[in-house]
Amino acid sequence: MKASKNTVVGFHYRLTDKDGELIEDSRSGARSPLILLGRSQVVPGVEAALEGHEPGDNFEVEVAPEQAYGEHREGMIQRVPKKYFHNAKQLKPGMTTVLSLREGGQQAVTVNKIGMSTVDVDVNHPMAGKTLKFAIEVTEVREATPEELAHGHAHPAKPDPA
Ligand code: ZN
Repeated sequence: MKASKNTVVGFHYRLTDKDGELIEDSRSGARSPLILLGRSQVVPGVEAALEGHEPGDNFEVEVAPEQAYGEHREGMIQRVPKKYFHNAKQLKPGMTTVLSLREGGQQAVTVNKIGMSTVDVDVNHPMAGKTLKFAIEVTEVREATPEELAHGHAHPAKPDPA
């Protein structure tokens, strides 16, 4: 069947920047995405590109920043106490790292400057402002279960009992 809103879609992707530099490859990660299409689980440009494809399809899509992680905005530098970083000693300018938020949760940031007890970070998403190229292979398309539709996400198949 073809991918459409509210179907479950599994796929592999290889993500490069516009110069062809590799950013992520789902085949080298722990698992490839399994999403409920239409629920914003991937960037809008990828979600739109998946529609109409079926298992076995391979295609490439170039996604502009506004259809990915947004434009890079100026004035997004924030000064954060070092204690909010789990790896404060290893930080270097230009590195991306993860900041633990006071409300819980985490945010990817880019280190701008390191002080004695604080770190200046750019809170733009590290991929903001980038045009991204995805090479996608669709591996699975199926009807969502009522439970998946109610939860708003896909449920991976349970491993076969050994
Ligand atoms: Zn669920």
